[in-house]
This record gives sequence, structure tokens and C-alpha cells, in this order.
Amino acid sequence: MNLLALPALADNYIWLLADAAGSALVVDPGETSPVESALAASGLRLGAILLTHHHPDHIGGAAELATRHGATIHAPRDERIRHAHVRVGDGDRVELADPAFGFDVIAIPGHTLSHVAYHGHGLLFCGDTLFSVGCGRLFEGTPAQMLHSLERLAALPDATRVCCGHEYTRANCAFALGLDPSNAALAARAAEVQARRADNLPTVPSTLADERACNPFLRIDTPALQQALAGNDRVERFAELRRRKDDFRMPSP
Ligand code: ZN
Ligand code: FE
Repeated sequence: MNLLALPALADNYIWLLADAAGSALVVDPGETSPVESALAASGLRLGAILLTHHHPDHIGGAAELATRHGATIHAPRDERIRHAHVRVGDGDRVELADPAFGFDVIAIPGHTLSHVAYHGHGLLFCGDTLFSVGCGRLFEGTPAQMLHSLERLAALPDATRVCCGHEYTRANCAFALGLDPSNAALAARAAEVQARRADNLPTVPSTLADERACNPFLRIDTPALQQALAGNDRVERFAELRRRKDDFRMPSP
């Protein structure tokens, strides 16, 4: 099993996963060129495309790649995704023959209402819902929906590798440190992220164990976050945290 994060557009990742027979799938191809380059360089063939949600930076290259390579597009039930061969929803099992991988589909509304994640082989493809040390903006769902979605993802095993849709980790760490300054795991993660970005390397995948230790959106019940965010109601705390992140600007270096 070979997993690659292909940088795309401004700060997206297209995930490429290949089996031992040389067949690959990609997740959320917002454009075609990084996928074509990776296929050409590796000699892999493209058999399947998985989409997490309808935003153009996640689906923009899907139809063209599918036509060119004869790949099958799996996508949530949402008319805003016009090109799909198989529609998926919560609790579905995606069993691919080519490449030989299988995934469980988890509905995770919040960033958008029809957003899904794909979980299998110790990997979680979670689009713009769970980021490393952050979470997606609430474009369509409510704070309660997003919190519930994140908690479903956070309940997966510790070693699960979190394959998210964007390289946002540096700014996410800066925001998180402001709320959780004495979290040693977060400080270590921030230093690691700084070093990897200085070398232009991806900071993902992380693991769910890392996220539970560092990600403020999974830590709203800890004393530090309870103190930083007023309110006894956990949905209110989560909503306030998300609002603060919406207004956060990375301090200039
Ligand atoms: Zn999105
Ligand atoms: Fe996105």
C-alpha cells in the first residue's frame, strides 16, 4: 500500500493510494495535473476516484480524470456533484476491485451538509471536516452537527492516519497555542510542523492520537479549553471556538 499527498491548487492535497498490483485511487482531485504527473512518474493506473464534498477545489478534476482513465467516481448524494458513477451515504461500504481497497462511508455534516469521510486500511479521508489541529468552516451545517461529526471521527482507533484536504496545520497550531499554551504535545507538534513546512514537506497525515492530544476542536472538554471558552454548554463552547478561528489571522513572521 502506497499513500501520497499530492499538493494541488493553493493549499489542497489530493490523496493517491495505490495497491500492490499498480492500481491507484485518488481522493478529492480538485485539478488534473498533479494526478497526471504522479501517474506518469510512477507508472500507476487510475481505477477509482473518491469525493468527500461538492466544493470545486475537491472535485474540479474528477470528471476529466474519470473519462481519460476509465475510473469510477464515488460521491455523496448531492446534485451539486454532477458527475458520479456510484452515490454513497452513511453506513455504506465501498468495496473496490481495482484498486483492491474497501472503505466504510461516514456522513459528517458541518462544513457542508452532504460531506462524507471514507475510512479503511487504517486511513481516514476526511476532506474539509477534520484538519490537523483544526476543523473546517461551517458553511452549511450547525455547530452541533459539526461537533457530532468530529466526535464520530475522533472515536476511530488511535493509529488511524488522518488524510485531510488542506495544508493548514501551521496556522492551526498558532491559533491552538493561544488557547492551550501549556499543552506540551501541541508545542511539540507546532515545532515539528514549522520544520516540515520550512522543508516544504506535508504535515499530514497525522494520527488520531495526535489530533486528540493537540486539536482544540477535539479538546473542548479539557480544563484549558473550558477556561479559555466561556460557557458550560459544550456546543456553545465549540461554536465560540469555531467563531474565534474564523476571525483568527496568522501573525506576520
Ligand atoms: Zn470545502
Ligand atoms: Fe477545500
